[in-house]
Amino acid sequence: MDDCIFCKIAGGEVPAKIIHRDDDVIAIEDLNPQAPSHTLVIPVPHHATIADLTQAEPALAGRLIGVASRLGADRGGEQGFRLVVNTGEYGGQTVGHVHVHVLAGRRMSWPPG
Ligand code: AMP
Ligand code: ZN
Repeated sequence: MDDCIFCKIAGGEVPAKIIHRDDDVIAIEDLNPQAPSHTLVIPVPHHATIADLTQAEPALAGRLIGVASRLGADRGGEQGFRLVVNTGEYGGQTVGHVHVHVLAGRRMSWPPG
């Protein structure tokens, strides 16, 4: 996707603080962190939403959650962490390339806003 910021980051055209990279998945520091540790786990191929990704490449969706969970466990330790996948307008998604937020380092509230 020509105009997608996460495709550009995955392709190395736009800089980001890379936490993890393999052939299929990258993880970066969020530019506008909402917790002491806030990372984004992103599949390298472009899929708009978690629903699209799961339908097209279910094994990759599993890998995405696996990397996110491992990062969360690293960052959150025994105190825990939160994974979030905002989806669509009502879900609060602002970047149209699926990504998992990994939030850790503070107590999260519920319900979310
Ligand atoms: P969402 O609103 O769930 O689609 O999440 C998009 C996230 O991407 C937000 O938390 C933004 O702060 C983050 N973001 C947008 N552009 C960049 C960028 N160039 N580098 C790192 N994080 C970004
Ligand atoms: Zn993209």
